[in-house]
Amino acid sequence: LSPADYIRSHIRTVPHWPAPGVMFRDITPLLANPRVFRVLIDQFVHRYFDVKPAAIAGLDARGFIIGSVVAYELNVGFVPIRKKGKLPFTTVEETYELEYGSATVEMHTDAVKPGDRVVLIDDLIATGGTMMAGKKLLERLGAEVIEGAAIVDLPELGGSNKLRDAGLPLFTLVNFA
Ligand code: IMP
Repeated sequence: LSPADYIRSHIRTVPHWPAPGVMFRDITPLLANPRVFRVLIDQFVHRYFDVKPAAIAGLDARGFIIGSVVAYELNVGFVPIRKKGKLPFTTVEETYELEYGSATVEMHTDAVKPGDRVVLIDDLIATGGTMMAGKKLLERLGAEVIEGAAIVDLPELGGSNKLRDAGLPLFTLVNFA
């Protein structure tokens, strides 16, 4: 089994959650198994070891789980991009459209410095709206997002194409149609 197939085999699909018709890709089995969790984290660590980013930025909330471990292994800082209302210091914020309604994410204004080269991590790319919002926040503070990384891409939802068209290189491990 390739690392990607090994990882894929530990992603659980939950039909009709959180809404009818949605096939939710649940990564918690990946976290629960220490061998597959290590293989997963190593994919990202190897990818960015020689890149030496200034920081890893993680998207609320599963991006925190993956991103913080990768940051620890690379010996670089971790920056949380949080859902609105959670961060205590001054923030920049970005609002984006969801299928129903909108969402707002925030980041501390001192989280990155101009010129910092940052890798942005989440568990999954669907429409790409969340990762696009994170990219905009980092760029507003003058950072350069060198790559967006995720465990899962859902290419049929168009998010990964949209992100690449916006100039963000992507690294994903598993696709689901
Ligand atoms: P997007 O903004 O439409 O790309 O949605 C991606 C965000 O929603 C990520 O932060 C994911 O954690 C979450 N998400 C959407 N669909 C799924 C799924 O099937 N499994 C896990 N997370 C999902």
